[in-house]
Amino acid sequence: MSENKQTALDAMAGDGGYQEAYLGDHLRFKMKRDKKRFWAGDNISEYILDERMKEQLIDEATDAFETVLDRLLIDRETDPNSKGTARRLAKMYFNEIMSGRYEPSPNATAFPNDTQDRYEGMLVVRSELRSMCSHHHQPVVGVAYIGIIAANKLIGLSKYTRIAQWCARRGTLQEELANDIAREIERATGAKDLGVYIQATHGCCESRGIMAHSSLTQTTVLKGAFKDDPGTKKEFFDNIKLQQEFAPR
Ligand SMILES: [Zn+2]
Repeated sequence: MSENKQTALDAMAGDGGYQEAYLGDHLRFKMKRDKKRFWAGDNISEYILDERMKEQLIDEATDAFETVLDRLLIDRETDPNSKGTARRLAKMYFNEIMSGRYEPSPNATAFPNDTQDRYEGMLVVRSELRSMCSHHHQPVVGVAYIGIIAANKLIGLSKYTRIAQWCARRGTLQEELANDIAREIERATGAKDLGVYIQATHGCCESRGIMAHSSLTQTTVLKGAFKDDPGTKKEFFDNIKLQQEFAPR
């Protein structure tokens, strides 16, 4: 028995004697029992207690991807390019394209913004996005513009991108992603006035389906003054236009 497998079995101990052959099945059972949603766009990091559990899940996904390749009639025994593909896929899902499901939220230290000379203007941050559609697991590539009117705390500028990327590294829909980013930015900054605008192209429209070369899609989420005050809304979109002039996309 591998060390990872033993750790995984240890993690299951004390759970009413319930034991599954796969750690992944055990965790699914636990999440169902807890009524914890585990859709492609949900974060389930609270169930993955350490790196060794993640390694075990990668081992199990490797076995499953081997079966998928076999069913696709791809010779993974003699084709040198397909030999390690199952493991590469498993690692890529857990550590890269879906890492936002398995890792806890980025630690965004907040700095006070409550002195007399507090910053009261609008802040607009441009964040590169790499995501994946949950319908076809095709890449979604784009950029998010996150605007806030600062509340009593500020977070480091790089944290906006870290939070956006953490939300994006899952299986999502662009509409869902805009909502997720808005919610997490609100949580990290305490700002009630905020906007998220995403512009992205979709692999599932470009590489399959309608094979449209340009599949640019825009989504917007506006809250507080960004939604209710036309001046604030205009300032947000003017800022986006200014950003686009310097970094076209
Ligand atoms: Zn799709």
